[in-house]
Amino acid sequence: MSQSSQTVRPDPGSRSRPPARGRRTSTGVFAGIRVGSIGGVEISLDYSWFIIFFLILGTFAGVVFPAQAPGVDRFGYLLMGFIGAALFFISLLLHELAHAFMAIRRGIGVEGITLFIFGGMARTERDASTPGDEFIIAVVGPLASLALAALFYGIAWAGSAGGAPLAVTVVAEYLGFLNLLLVIFNMLPGFPLDGGRILRAGLWKATGSMRKGTGIATGIGRGLGWGLIGLGLFSLLVGGALIGGLWLVFIGWFLGHAARASYQQVLLQEMLAPLTAGRTMTPNPETVPPDLPLEELVQSYFLQRPFNSFPVTEDGVPLGMVTLGQIKAMPRSEWAGKVTADVMTPMERVVVVDPDTPMIDVIRKMQRAEVRRALVARDWELLGIISNTDLARWIERMTLVEEDRA
Ligand SMILES: [Zn+2]
Repeated sequence: MSQSSQTVRPDPGSRSRPPARGRRTSTGVFAGIRVGSIGGVEISLDYSWFIIFFLILGTFAGVVFPAQAPGVDRFGYLLMGFIGAALFFISLLLHELAHAFMAIRRGIGVEGITLFIFGGMARTERDASTPGDEFIIAVVGPLASLALAALFYGIAWAGSAGGAPLAVTVVAEYLGFLNLLLVIFNMLPGFPLDGGRILRAGLWKATGSMRKGTGIATGIGRGLGWGLIGLGLFSLLVGGALIGGLWLVFIGWFLGHAARASYQQVLLQEMLAPLTAGRTMTPNPETVPPDLPLEELVQSYFLQRPFNSFPVTEDGVPLGMVTLGQIKAMPRSEWAGKVTADVMTPMERVVVVDPDTPMIDVIRKMQRAEVRRALVARDWELLGIISNTDLARWIERMTLVEEDRA
C-alpha cells in the first residue's frame, strides 16, 4: 500500500499496504517466504499465512466437514480438510493471478503475489493510469472466483449424479460456496476491495478526476470497515462467536485502514506529480572534504550547522555522504586519526538522481535503498541534496495551497 505507485492488491480484505514488517520489497510491502513463480510472477507466503492455513484446516476437518459428511473417520476428515484448505488457497492464488496477468497485459509491472492472513495480494509497480485499465484489472479477480465457483459446483453436481463418494462432493460444494463468498465480499463497493476499484473506475470515468473517484470509493471503504467491526463486535458480544467475531473486527480494521492509506497515497501522488528533484532539492549544499579529521567534522560542521548530513566532495565531484548518525555510531575514543572518508557512505550506496527526475521516482529510490537523503547531480557535478525535511516542507506548502483553493 504506500508511496508513489506502489499498489498492493490484498484480497479479500483489501488491496492496500499491509503493515510493513520483516523484509521489505521495493514497495515497502512484506514479501514473506518465496515459494515459486508462475508466468514470471513471484509467489510468496507471509508468515501470517501459516496461522490462517492451520485455522482453516482445523475448521474444515473439525467442524465443517463432519457436519456435512457424517460417517467419515477422523483421518478422512483430516484429509478432506487438508485438500479443502489447499484448494481454497489455490483459489485465492488464481484470483490474484487474474489481477496480476491482466495488469501485465496492460503494461503495469507486477512484483509478485503474497498470500497473507486476509487472503492474497498482487503487488503492482504502479496504479492503473486510465479508468479502463483500472476496471479491467479489478474485474478479472471476481470473474476468476466466479468461474471457480461454477467449476466446483459443477464437480459437486456431476459427482453426486455419478455416485461419487460424499467426501468428494462435500469438499467440492464447499469450495464452490467459498469462492462465491469471495466474489460477494470482493464486490462490495468499498475501496480497496475489487468492487471499490470498479466503483472508482466508474466515478473516475464519469468525473474525469481520479481523486474524486478515490475519495468516494475510499469513503465507502472506511464505512464498510466500521460496519464489519460493528458486526464483528455484535457477533462476539451478543452471539458469542469468538473467532468469527474477532475475524470480522480484524478484517474491518484492516479494510478501513487500507482505505484511508490508499486515499492519502493518491493525494500525495497528485501533489508530487509536478515536482522534480531539481525543484525540491536544497541547492548548493555545504560539502566536506574526504580527508577532514572526524574531530573537525564534528566541531566545525555538525555542531555549527543545522544539517544532519553533508555530501563529501573533492574538486566538486561527489564521493559519498556523511551523516551525524554515522559519527554517533563510533565511540569518541576512536575518532583520533580517522577522517571523513573512513566513516562516510560511499557513492555506490548513495541515491543519486538527475535534477529532472520526478519526485515520485526519487522517493521510490530512497525507499528501495532505505535511506532518507538523496544527492542531485548532473555529469558528476553536485547540484543539491534532498532530505526528508525538504520533502515534508514541500508537502506542507502544497497542502496549504490546496486548502486555499478548496
Ligand atoms: Zn481481487
